[in-house]
Amino acid sequence: MDGVAMNQHELAIVPEGMIADMLTREAAFDAVEKVFAAMAAGDAYNFPVVREAIGHEDALYGFKGGFDRAGGVLGLKAGGYWPHNLDRRGLINHQSTVFLFDPDTGRVKAMVGGNLLTALRTAAASSVSIRHLVRKDAKVLGMIGAGHQAAFQLRAALETHAFEKVIGWNYHPDMLHNIAEVAMEAGVTYEAVDLAGMQAADAIISLTSSFDATLFSEHVSPGTHIACMGTDTKGKQELAADLMDKATVFTDEIAQSISIGEAQHAIGQGLIAEEDIVQLGAVINGTHPGRTSDDEITIFDGTGVGLQDLAVAGSIVEVAVAQGQATVVPI
Ligand code: NAD
Repeated sequence: MDGVAMNQHELAIVPEGMIADMLTREAAFDAVEKVFAAMAAGDAYNFPVVREAIGHEDALYGFKGGFDRAGGVLGLKAGGYWPHNLDRRGLINHQSTVFLFDPDTGRVKAMVGGNLLTALRTAAASSVSIRHLVRKDAKVLGMIGAGHQAAFQLRAALETHAFEKVIGWNYHPDMLHNIAEVAMEAGVTYEAVDLAGMQAADAIISLTSSFDATLFSEHVSPGTHIACMGTDTKGKQELAADLMDKATVFTDEIAQSISIGEAQHAIGQGLIAEEDIVQLGAVINGTHPGRTSDDEITIFDGTGVGLQDLAVAGSIVEVAVAQGQATVVPI
């Protein structure tokens, strides 16, 4: 938030309804790429995640926080999942808000709507992995999953790399129109396939809420990059564990990858070790070579870290204050 014309006695508020106008996919990409780099350089770290079933409305509520010394960003995202919102109140079930603090004084600096921001920062993470790990000649993008997040992921991926064709599979085929429409809007050919058809993909984004592996080794061709984005909780799984063993595995944060991310299964079965997993930020910083051959399968285990939210929120506040769009109140 450097350059923001606010003083320490002011709080900037950017409500949910303004986020779409304040945040471009490009800005989300830049913010996430920078913070992944800072994490790998040891300049930024995430705090332990708190997630609680609060015993009311069947809600799951929690906090994801962190400090990025390099970017001067300190804060947390508070929120969670209220499963009855849509039916009872016409509100989306995922609800969150980001709070940013001045790392020099501890004073609150900003309050930012976190719902759309979460989708955009998650899409930015898989796109950053595509930018750094996909083969340069990649043409076909496979989508596994067609839920709320999928359209955001697909739009961002198509802006990041010049894919010529999108192929899609979903557990609930009636939802596939969500991704078909995005591909068509982008002027890219779309085809629904069965899982064996994923062999044609050069890159795959997997984004499901599944608790069992969907994608197996026989579905994946050599040289494919897989951004595995759905597994963010203990017990969830999208990829067969042996696929992790065959691939070079990258992640946003190793502690989350082995505990709540996709690597929990391969680690649990002793197929890979924690030391085998590389922070994507190391590739961004140039301290890890990333992909080293056209036959290598690369996997990005995107678990979703609080610093992604804070980085993107910081970028939104900067734009909103600079444009005079934020509500600035005295504190
Ligand atoms: P959603 O509920 O809108 O969609 C769920 C998707 O999973 C649908 O495509 C559905 O068909 C599919 N699915 C459901 N059961 C399945 C099964 N048994 N096998 C295979 N597929 C199945 O959810 P969403 O908002 O699109 O989120 C998808 C996943 O991404 C969730 O697990 C969510 O927690 C996770 N997520 C991760 C991050 C991150 O940063 N990594 C961020 C947000 C959400």
